[in-house]
Amino acid sequence: MAELKHYNPQAYNSLQLTNPITWSRAFFKIGICCNDNLNNLSESFNRTIRQARRNPLLDLLEDIRRQCMVRNAKRFIIADNRLKTRFTKRAHAEIEKAIAGAQYCERYMARNNIHEVCQNGVGYSVDMDARSCGCRKWQMVGIPCSHATSMIIGKKEKVEDYVSDYYTKKRWRETYLDGIRPVQGMPLWPRLNWLPVLPPPWRRGNPERPSMLGGKEEMNLRLLQIPRRCQGKKE
Ligand SMILES: [Zn+2]
Repeated sequence: MAELKHYNPQAYNSLQLTNPITWSRAFFKIGICCNDNLNNLSESFNRTIRQARRNPLLDLLEDIRRQCMVRNAKRFIIADNRLKTRFTKRAHAEIEKAIAGAQYCERYMARNNIHEVCQNGVGYSVDMDARSCGCRKWQMVGIPCSHATSMIIGKKEKVEDYVSDYYTKKRWRETYLDGIRPVQGMPLWPRLNWLPVLPPPWRRGNPERPSMLGGKEEMNLRLLQIPRRCQGKKE
């Protein structure tokens, strides 16, 4: 962003107006431990609600609530019965990916349990005590990146021991234990005997604006003002 500000201050100011903390990974909070927070999260969200977006606002919100309710319920079933591994399926896939990428890393030892790991000619500072890497993936996602994984393998330790607790079966079960409760339809809501919501006060329109639903005379006047085409005028 500093480079962008130097290159084009107007583009930088324009980008700042869009509140990048809500959509750019570079501004996301460290320690959230969620690998769904990517730059394309708005596209993912829009794809999920593509059917619901055709509805009016209240129906749209109801649809989103139901989707969240079902998602939470399904995740609890997975965590409670089906999940036989220590971590979630996606977390294990991410660990495998990091292990595969670690073979392309070169390690250089430094003091205080901090190391420099090079991949594709770029060096990354990996702090094993702080559990952080210069690429920021480890501290943001909670799963070691390929650079950190390279260090963990080099120490002959298990990568799983460095993965955040949030991906364990136990934490998933705790997270989705309650979920979202169903909502009953409007006819089943309790009656409070209060005044119903009143319509807005009646207001006279702009008197100077010609009415499209005027009387017969106004319509005739309008017809007279329409220019007529020449009908076969002979010379
Ligand atoms: Zn890294």
